[in-house]
Amino acid sequence: MRASALHSDVIVFVSDVWQTTCTAVRGGDEGFLIDSPVYPEELRALPDVLEQAGFPVSGLLATHGDWDHLLGRLAFPGASLGCAESTAQRLAAEPGDAQRRLRSFDSEHYVEGRPPLALGSLQRLPVPGRLELGAGHELELIAADGHTADGAAYWIPWLGVLVCGDYLSPVEIPMLSPGGSIDGYRATLQRLDELVRSASWVIPGHGAPLESDGARTILAQDIAYLTQLADQPEAVTLSPSRNTAAQRRIHEANLALPRA
Ligand SMILES: [Zn+2]
Repeated sequence: MRASALHSDVIVFVSDVWQTTCTAVRGGDEGFLIDSPVYPEELRALPDVLEQAGFPVSGLLATHGDWDHLLGRLAFPGASLGCAESTAQRLAAEPGDAQRRLRSFDSEHYVEGRPPLALGSLQRLPVPGRLELGAGHELELIAADGHTADGAAYWIPWLGVLVCGDYLSPVEIPMLSPGGSIDGYRATLQRLDELVRSASWVIPGHGAPLESDGARTILAQDIAYLTQLADQPEAVTLSPSRNTAAQRRIHEANLALPRA
């Protein structure tokens, strides 16, 4: 797992698998941890690393309900997990699904010794909405669906940091999971566009943090990809930096997803 301090109040952890990101943000004597790394070793390291850095964890947040973003309580079992209302609804509709998918990942990769994942009672956050952090700071929640049917991006206005979930990834093309949609995905990118322009950092759900220009390049590539996918799916080309076997498999799955 890589850790980088983007700012004196923001640390980003990037997991060794799928480059799943986990963002710690501090506001005074409070702090949130958004999403999670994946491997047990990485989760075990978090409390010590954050304590040494003087980052309190007063609550956990998730950008969306895919299991690899929900593991924060394995590192902080006493903390409560907040998420968009849409994510809470999804998780309530598929009880135990995240735990089953985690088990299946662990069994596939011979990962042992992980305690069961208990999400606890979720704190449902209105989107769009605001969430207080410490004295005088508020995170803004922006609807971010399209990758899945649920989700929120977190804008940290006083630091110019956007934690956007599974959008704007330098390592993954737009992935339409069941429940996701091309139109929803494009609408989310349009909502994020203005924030991306004014951001000092954009932290995607997968891949290293991006400065504004890099994120804008990916946003343009992803709009172009989704437009081709909708209008001329047979003519789609993947951007050279993301044209790998794994990304071509995601593209095949996108093609197979039923259209509304
Ligand atoms: Zn993801």
